[in-house]
Amino acid sequence: MSDTEQPTDDHADDEFEPIQVFPEPEEMDLRPGADNCYKCSTCDTNCPVAEVDDEFPGPKFQGPEQWRLKRQDDHDIDDSVMKCSNCMRCDHACPSEVPLSQMHNTARGEYVAENMSKRSLEYWRNRLLSNYGTMARIGSKVPRLTNFVMGLSITKLVNDRLLGITSEREFPEFATETFRTWWADRGGAAIQSDDRRVAYFHGCYSNYNTPEVGKAMVRVFEHFGYEVLVPDQRCSGTPMYANGMLGDARRAAETNVPELAAAIEDGAAVIASCTSCSMSLRQEYPELFDLEGVHEVSDNTWEALEYLRVHEDLEAALSGTAVDLPDLAYHAPCHARNQGLDGQAIEVLDAIDGVDAHDVGDSCSGISGTYGWKSENYDTSMKIGEEMFEHMERADADTGLTECPTCAMQMEHGTGYEIKHPLQVLETALIGENDRSETGGGAESR
Ligand code: SF4
Ligand code: SF4
Repeated sequence: MSDTEQPTDDHADDEFEPIQVFPEPEEMDLRPGADNCYKCSTCDTNCPVAEVDDEFPGPKFQGPEQWRLKRQDDHDIDDSVMKCSNCMRCDHACPSEVPLSQMHNTARGEYVAENMSKRSLEYWRNRLLSNYGTMARIGSKVPRLTNFVMGLSITKLVNDRLLGITSEREFPEFATETFRTWWADRGGAAIQSDDRRVAYFHGCYSNYNTPEVGKAMVRVFEHFGYEVLVPDQRCSGTPMYANGMLGDARRAAETNVPELAAAIEDGAAVIASCTSCSMSLRQEYPELFDLEGVHEVSDNTWEALEYLRVHEDLEAALSGTAVDLPDLAYHAPCHARNQGLDGQAIEVLDAIDGVDAHDVGDSCSGISGTYGWKSENYDTSMKIGEEMFEHMERADADTGLTECPTCAMQMEHGTGYEIKHPLQVLETALIGENDRSETGGGAESR
């Protein structure tokens, strides 16, 4: 592993190799959790898709009921599993610890492997959306041209009519310099330390679209004296599970797990700035992939603010700091809630003078990664998001705040607000706008 290397492009041209996700049908009975379901329907009442779409049968059916049917006879997975947005709210809501999202992810994998035609446009659209990292790697080679082409009405129309990617949304712009290019040009870490070391899992979006979030992460952790490593990495897999592309997700995990496990071996904790990435490394990896080191990665992964709250006296560090920002409307992503992180951003940022962050409630943003990008889901996605949009508008703020890049897209789309990541606010408070040394290369040892 190298902490200064450019991302390798070795995987960009990977051919699709179908894998056998379910070696034997009887292995579908691996989840004794299905028997823990006592049919209280709490999961159904917490499902944002079921709330607005009467045709969606809900998580209880997708999970335990479907597994029971499967066990009794050779029952095909119902195609409605593709309507689950993978928000994982049902997981969080179940009082009986039924592993609902594991069941949904596995069922989607089986449905795509066995029931979805590999020649269908739906398959290729879903494959394209779930491999955003590969598309982004190609598009970001000529960012200005890609941004121009993706913004054309004709491109949107073709995407909508031909592929079923909604033309209602603006395609996210690629940054003119990726996070990893910035990191390499800077010379890597500015601080070397044997006992304060973190490995940054930036994911696709902070690398290709919002490198300012990755830079904020590096600057904030270096402010606290941490050596930051940036291991080689691929997509966390979140959009792939949501589309039943478990073979793609496994191939990405086969890069990520050994790279991150090696960093952990070197004394680093794994830090993610995106809550869906931390969710994936923590929960979905060990649920879905039997890879060496997967439990070490799961046990040593943290969301950025969470790590700082536990390991640093953030309140003392922020005391006396001030920023000049408009009021902020904070949305906690569903995947942050599942990790128990929903209240932390407001609590941390409250210590900064001049920051007034309002929690806009516990509703789902509705976009759920690739779900809201599909033409057939767009209206449902916006209906789910209505409550959040209304709360944002009532919060007397004109800037949004969240840790999830696709929730940020939905917040911006529904309200027109500019959206920030909490790390950017922390960066401004701790380091300021004008004191951002870009010299890396292990300039300082601690
Ligand atoms: S919340 Fe849990 S126990 Fe209740 S119906 Fe859903 S899966 Fe079953
Ligand atoms: S993951 Fe979300 S959309 Fe899917 S069934 Fe559970 S609550 Fe509903």
